[in-house]
Amino acid sequence: MISVSAISEFIYCPFKVYLRYVEGYQIQSPFMLVGRLYHEVNRGYEELIKRNIWSLNKKMNLEEVSLNIFEGVSEFVAETSQKYENPELMDNEKFEDVKNMLESQLKLDSLIIAIKTKKILNTGKSPLEIVDMLFPPSILDLTLENSEIGLKGKVDKVEIGEGIYYPVEIKTGFPPVKGVWQADALQITAYSLLIEEELKKEVLVGFVDYLQIRERKTVVVNSNLRKKLFETLSQLQSLLYEGNFPDKETVTSKCNSCNYAQVCDHSSF
Ligand code: SF4
Repeated sequence: MISVSAISEFIYCPFKVYLRYVEGYQIQSPFMLVGRLYHEVNRGYEELIKRNIWSLNKKMNLEEVSLNIFEGVSEFVAETSQKYENPELMDNEKFEDVKNMLESQLKLDSLIIAIKTKKILNTGKSPLEIVDMLFPPSILDLTLENSEIGLKGKVDKVEIGEGIYYPVEIKTGFPPVKGVWQADALQITAYSLLIEEELKKEVLVGFVDYLQIRERKTVVVNSNLRKKLFETLSQLQSLLYEGNFPDKETVTSKCNSCNYAQVCDHSSF
């Protein structure tokens, strides 16, 4: 069965997929380390914020709301980061920069939440109602697979609103100027198909959360994306099971930052 994450790797470079899934290379990179840290922190951060909202009341001013909402976040980031320290992949100074950047992004994010929360508090809503308004019910890390499509994967989050399911993919990198990266759109499409098969509900829209700038972008799961997904899956199957590489040029800029360059015969440098 093909994993959904292989789809975006395939879009990045088919040779990378071959090296990883056929040749069996598992090469770690600083980017993967940062990605895992961001994912774990983001998950715990949301729970912390929800819990902190419970301690708020209407009499608090914006500064108090903001301070209360951010309470415990710095400690949580520091504690979680300890697990990911790995000087072989990233020296201490760089890792410290990543940690500081992550904390300042969360501070900014929590300030935006504080402004929204204060406005809602002023209307007389309770903390419980505020949590429901700002954070829709969701399922985290939902594992899905379907043998008929030949696809499996773990979706970061599925948000549920009025009986409709929305797959959410969390990305550490930056988004393009417009829309989302094609690989991200295809991942959302793949999760949509898996959710439709598993939960028997049509999925029309998903989201990509780009954590670097904390921006959510929408993906409309239309027929073009579905068609592109099946074409990509067919190319991937052909590569993985028959060793057929699609006609694709290697791109120097990608090879320059590729963690597989040291073991890749197709590297362009
Ligand atoms: S080094 Fe270049 S060709 Fe090789 S896997 Fe990486 S991106 Fe692809």
